[in-house]
Amino acid sequence: MISDFHDPFEQVSYCAVRKGMRCPSCRNITDFNCHQRLFLCLACKTISSLDEIFVQSAREYLLIYPERKLTKSSMYLWCNKKIPPAKVSTLLKQHFKLQGRTKGSHYRELNIP
Ligand SMILES: [Zn+2]
Repeated sequence: MISDFHDPFEQVSYCAVRKGMRCPSCRNITDFNCHQRLFLCLACKTISSLDEIFVQSAREYLLIYPERKLTKSSMYLWCNKKIPPAKVSTLLKQHFKLQGRTKGSHYRELNIP
């Protein structure tokens, strides 16, 4: 089957990676029922906080694309537009460190000097 063929040297492309919010418990990218800041995973029925899901998604993004910058728009798209941009901005400010003050400003993990 040609569709089963996978080139191990193929670069991970942005389009091929499934975007969306991943459940911290079952590790699936799935749909959530949200109530305020709490998200119920429809796959395993575990409740997680938005912060928890967001921080994990951001770390995953940096892991897959170390050359890319963590920004509001990149995280908005990475979370499949499930979190409003204003909320993404707040979450980034809370959990990550802003680098730079110009157009090229982006966020980094707090524990990286
Ligand atoms: Zn789950």
